[in-house]
Amino acid sequence: DAPANGKDCTRFDLEKETELRFEVESGEAAEQVELELLSGLAEVFGSELNRNKKYVFGPGSKIAVFTWQGCSVNLHGKPEVAYVSKDTPMLLYLNTHAALEQMRKQAERENERGPRVMVVGPTDVGKSTVCRMLLNYAVRVGRRPTLVELDVGQSGVSVPGTVSALCIERPADVEEGFSVQAPLVYHFGSTTPGTNIKLYNKLTSCLAEMFSQRCEVNRKASVGGCIINTCGWVKGSGYQALVHCASTFQVDVVLVLDHERLYNELKRDLPHFVRVVLLPKSGGVVERSKECRRDTRDEKIREYFYGFRGVSYYPFSYEVRFSDVRIYKIGAPSIPDSCLPLGMSQDDTQLKLVPVTPGRDLTYHVLSVSSVDDGDEGARKSIVEIPVCGFIVVTFVDTQTQVMKVLSPAPRPLPRHTLLIMDIRFMDMK
Ligand code: ADP
Repeated sequence: DAPANGKDCTRFDLEKETELRFEVESGEAAEQVELELLSGLAEVFGSELNRNKKYVFGPGSKIAVFTWQGCSVNLHGKPEVAYVSKDTPMLLYLNTHAALEQMRKQAERENERGPRVMVVGPTDVGKSTVCRMLLNYAVRVGRRPTLVELDVGQSGVSVPGTVSALCIERPADVEEGFSVQAPLVYHFGSTTPGTNIKLYNKLTSCLAEMFSQRCEVNRKASVGGCIINTCGWVKGSGYQALVHCASTFQVDVVLVLDHERLYNELKRDLPHFVRVVLLPKSGGVVERSKECRRDTRDEKIREYFYGFRGVSYYPFSYEVRFSDVRIYKIGAPSIPDSCLPLGMSQDDTQLKLVPVTPGRDLTYHVLSVSSVDDGDEGARKSIVEIPVCGFIVVTFVDTQTQVMKVLSPAPRPLPRHTLLIMDIRFMDMK
């Protein structure tokens, strides 16, 4: 094992249909690991590797390099673990893609819409990874599928606390994932659907409606269909939210990862024409601790403001007068039914906009900037159902002068003046 760049270097020769799994240590001080394809063909979660290019993976990365034909790769650096596995569900995943592709072909022939697929399962079974693979395989054969991200805890598209949709036009970058240009993002405000399940279901319906509208005017989007990534909460209201999603999106296929009971429940509760398929999880999927999940969330927000790897952003910090903005929290605290004003239901309270006067406790909160036109409030749609155009973080509140300081990706002034509070906080340590 000759060291390259002064780093340890290990070569792996992979037989066909096997994968090299490795993890990069987490923590600030951890050394990154470089991957290089020497010969043969290989892919990382459905994105093909180029030969003799060094792919760099940062702290906490958990990667699988899979080969259909066989290949040799080098790993530079000291991964926390690195081993080859022959036992992967990749063939089943590829067959799933093949079946979806058949449905797209049929849709094309018969002027119908392509498959709408929901991927479900508990946390850490590789849902997001399966979505990424299926989207990659679809886009590699020329399709234009849509990723619908309903995982408010670990969004692959936007900051945590949001749900979103993204049209996929090219395979995910091996190191950075899908290019996120012009996603459609809605404010949810917290990292678990349970904090406001009514709002969560409402937003799922908004995304479904927007997607259907797009399919009506864009044939490729319609044929491409969508892949919906969901939360790992599969009991009680979490389960109901999955059933709601299946119905509002009119999904054709549900992929259940590694959860037989969930599979049986969905088979029982969804209409018979929905194909519910049980798939095994990959042995490579790594369980993530609470801290790990929190770090990932933090990192996602940091990326939003400061950029990622090669691309650095320089966010702005400026003052905003309370009088120039309207700040809301979505959802009034629930009160006993008997105390509700006449004609109002609990649903209404959960979707209600509650005006908030900024106080010190607003410090470090992430705020969504609603794209609602200033002055157009309360028009056709409720603000809850209107996408957001960006995010800011409150870094300081001065109640005396009625001014708050914010971190913003763009220079002053704010593009819009309706702000929605998230439960999520971000402490800027830069
Ligand atoms: P979920 O969406 O179900 O919470 P993820 O798809 O995010 O799970 O997977 C959890 C972690 O496991 C991710 O860091 C991902 O990169 C990693 N992972 C997934 N599949 C593999 C695999 N075959 N080998 C190694 N790591 C994997």
